[in-house]
Amino acid sequence: MTDPKHTEKSDADPNSISIQAAKEIISARLSKITEQQTVAIEKAYGRILAHDVESPINVPSFRASAMDGYAYRHAEGKKHLHISAHSLAGHPSDDRANANECHRITTGARVPDFADTVVQQENVSVKNNIITINQQSDKGHHVRAAGSDSTKGSPLMQRGQRLAAAQIATLTSHGFKNVDVIRPVKVAIFSTGDELAKPEDKLERGHIYDANRALLSGILKSPAVDLNDLGIVKDTPQALQDAFALSMDADLVISSGGVSVGDADFVRPVLEQIGELHVWKIAMKPGRPLTFGNLARNNAYFGLPGNPVSAAITCMIFVLPAIQQLTGQPTNELPRVKAKLKTALSKLPGRVEYQRGVLTLEENGLWSVSTTGIQDSHVVTSLHNANCFVELPYESSGAQTSEDVMVIPFAHFSESIL
Ligand code: AMP
Ligand code: MG
Repeated sequence: MTDPKHTEKSDADPNSISIQAAKEIISARLSKITEQQTVAIEKAYGRILAHDVESPINVPSFRASAMDGYAYRHAEGKKHLHISAHSLAGHPSDDRANANECHRITTGARVPDFADTVVQQENVSVKNNIITINQQSDKGHHVRAAGSDSTKGSPLMQRGQRLAAAQIATLTSHGFKNVDVIRPVKVAIFSTGDELAKPEDKLERGHIYDANRALLSGILKSPAVDLNDLGIVKDTPQALQDAFALSMDADLVISSGGVSVGDADFVRPVLEQIGELHVWKIAMKPGRPLTFGNLARNNAYFGLPGNPVSAAITCMIFVLPAIQQLTGQPTNELPRVKAKLKTALSKLPGRVEYQRGVLTLEENGLWSVSTTGIQDSHVVTSLHNANCFVELPYESSGAQTSEDVMVIPFAHFSESIL
């Protein structure tokens, strides 16, 4: 897209709005999904918690030993104690003991009521069932209090929490068998373009294989998303209208291509006809023609730019937070790290620019970043070879070697395992 207002020195477009302003407009148009589903805890990975959860029990529910050793009364102050019973994990001993007695105890075993302290076995010698304490423990040492993980009735987890390994383990360790989650967001996706071919197609003259459905489906893949791939849609207003009609029941509709001002770019006029256009033109590169609106049933719609790199970046920056908002998750800013440039990067002021980079942890413990090379937004391999975006601010006119730049690592886009 060439804009006649562009000069050599600036890439600004007076009709474009900032990324932040666009995010605010989009956010104001999204409403949270409230419908819930009860799922077995084993099926809950990646789902979003539907309501706050309190701890139903003390965890641990009893005083437990943190060491293999001997449970005893600290106040007795004795060096020699007779082993009168064994408390093993899952096999608690009797709660009583006579004077000058201790219980052999293993890690995770219930500390019998008579005892207040555990001495670890490394600090003890044993002969004829009598222990000699070579190094006294402090009172209460190695005894995990009941409820030291969480106490019954205390807040455990909040609505909107994404359930990954740590959250599911927390729920199972508190005895939950089922959990109430938000139903998956229904997302319909399609690519537009008469030039697009499917993998099984023979590539005709002037045609290219569709990259965007694979790219966007991959970015959006999540148990919290129910993705409906509507395929490739031709460049006619009717074909677009048909695709919108087919995606009627989706909470969110995402297309790629057709958002510029070319002869075959029908997204904007069709959207204005059947729904409402809220955002068009953002001061970013790539991704300036990102389109956002509402369709006939008031469902949210993103018209992403056609070039794959632009589609991927706008999906990460706008669509992922929109999905988080729809499911009630906190929409945190993407994590950024500061890195030293290994290669100079060229840029014109007037847009925030996302260049593809390779982030490396150097031997000195600092991050460095180099470019993946050619940055044109049709170059899918620039994404595949990158592990981060270099984020250059609006006013930047390029960055020199050794300059510090902000980098958004890709690893954070994919789901955290914890
Ligand atoms: P458009 O916004 O439709 O003008 O598309 C801009 C550029 O992206 C053109 O070069 C298209 O051929 C290309 N493009 C559009 N959709 C796709 C797609 N699904 N996969 C790969 N390239 C695409
Ligand atoms: Mg097109």
